[in-house]
Amino acid sequence: PSDINKLADEYLRLSYHGLRAKDKSFNADYKLEADENLPLVNVVPQDIGRVLLNLINNAFYAVSEKRKNHPYDYQPRVVVSTALRGDRVEIGVSDNGSGIPKDVLDKIYQPFFTTKPAGQGTGLGLSMSYDIITKGHRGSLTVDSKEGIGTEFKILIPIA
Ligand code: ADP
Ligand code: MG
Repeated sequence: PSDINKLADEYLRLSYHGLRAKDKSFNADYKLEADENLPLVNVVPQDIGRVLLNLINNAFYAVSEKRKNHPYDYQPRVVVSTALRGDRVEIGVSDNGSGIPKDVLDKIYQPFFTTKPAGQGTGLGLSMSYDIITKGHRGSLTVDSKEGIGTEFKILIPIA
């Protein structure tokens, strides 16, 4: 059984410091809003870690792109949250990036679909994440995105 708060904290820092190491100009506010009473969950920690890393990297990418167009009047922000929802644990990854246009939203879970420039994205992150959560953990992965406002991905995983 795994401590989801600990995993979320580790992967949030890993992602942030990894991106900072590659690009010194990269900057964003980030925080974990953890439910301190979250029960341990039966997951494959490396797999959930890969999903978190992809969702969090996507979120940081989205805010840094928006920052390029709004250098003065915009503060990039990524929040990871955890909560107990009945017999499931919820992990949210939200950003205040540019959001996902409707025509793109239909395709994000397709393998190799990416809007990133060549060399910056494989388009495999979300398709892999979807399989890990739905097939590997009998959970769900959903997205809520508003153009110009931001994006939130939600993972729900059964505790048992
Ligand atoms: P990649 O990151 O390699 O492009 P993913 O499967 O992780 O592949 O994501 C597919 C596409 O979904 C991205 O290229 C992007 O267009 C969109 N996307 C994913 N997460 C976000 C986000 N947080 N904000 C805006 N767009 C996103
Ligand atoms: Mg990705």
